[in-house]
Amino acid sequence: MADYYGALGVAQDATDDEIKKAYRKLARQLHPDVNADPAAQERFKAVTAAYEVLSDPQKRQVVDLGGDPLSSGPGSAGSPFSQGFGGLGDIMDAFFGGGSGGGRGPRSRSRQGSDALLRIECELAETVFGTDRELTVETAVVCSTCTGEGTARGTHPTVCDTCQGRGEVQQVQRSFLGQVMTSRACPRCSGLGSIIEHPCGECSGDGRVRARRTLTVKVPAGIEHGMRIRLSGEGEVGPGGGPAGDLYVEVVEREHPVFSREGDDLHCTVTLPMTAAALGTHVPLSTLDGDETLDIAPGTQPDEVLTLRARGVPHLRATGRGDLHVHLRIEVPTRLDTKQEDLLRDLARLRGEEHPASSGKGGGLFGRRRR
Ligand SMILES: [Zn+2]
Ligand SMILES: [Zn+2]
Repeated sequence: MADYYGALGVAQDATDDEIKKAYRKLARQLHPDVNADPAAQERFKAVTAAYEVLSDPQKRQVVDLGGDPLSSGPGSAGSPFSQGFGGLGDIMDAFFGGGSGGGRGPRSRSRQGSDALLRIECELAETVFGTDRELTVETAVVCSTCTGEGTARGTHPTVCDTCQGRGEVQQVQRSFLGQVMTSRACPRCSGLGSIIEHPCGECSGDGRVRARRTLTVKVPAGIEHGMRIRLSGEGEVGPGGGPAGDLYVEVVEREHPVFSREGDDLHCTVTLPMTAAALGTHVPLSTLDGDETLDIAPGTQPDEVLTLRARGVPHLRATGRGDLHVHLRIEVPTRLDTKQEDLLRDLARLRGEEHPASSGKGGGLFGRRRR
């Protein structure tokens, strides 16, 4: 590519006036009217082209970015930004004393993958005692065809020739303070510094594909509804073979037909006939730990609660277990045949609890509104 500044013999930070003067001086020496030498005519063409470019702020900017505004436009063979200059950085170093760009460098093609979330439904017995669950997860995994590089077999990313692999391009802007150099991500390679010319056919250059796999998650005893188990590195693999994120498994506890859970305590309700509550009895109860027998003391009252110690949920972060609370409901018979009614009346009489025979209106102890 043409060295326009060199052709005019001016520095890259030459002012418009210096450029104009340099061109006039050279034109006077090289113009075909005054110089018949064919070499001089060639140089005159080059000098004129250089002046045309450098006197136009937009074209000059292209040159300052390492381009050539006079090369044929996009679609022509080869890149409009050729490498003939030995790199824009070299020019910047030459004119600005090196260290241009701040050394940020290209950003990595590979990036950290994102986390994934999966929900599993667990029975109460599973959250209480813990379990191993096999899961099928579909996440991004490293593409085995290109091992994450994203390139077709036998090829590799090539250095971006717009930014020479730096991932950023620098731009010199003129301001009243003089020249200000700014840099931005290279538009051609999006700041990556390299370009995949032949992407892997399997992953289209992403370096990862979606795949199903099975893994086993350990559900710890005592875990609660809504809690998440973290499986480190089992999430989505990142683009370009980047490290995988984590997989979170959220536990959804199914409702149990008998037991409800409050923290690490379990609750259930057992209904007893009025007579059983009065006389006392033994009631079988099938708990999560197996069959138990509830001892109902004679004279048990409605809404009494029996507590079975350490028959609840194991504490997740401590030893021991919560309790199982059995709420007792006393059922009063709704229909009595004549004989039953007589027996109850005898009982009431014996206990000095006599009351009107009618079940309808009436005052006294039994006269309250019926449910
Ligand atoms: Zn691939
Ligand atoms: Zn680039």
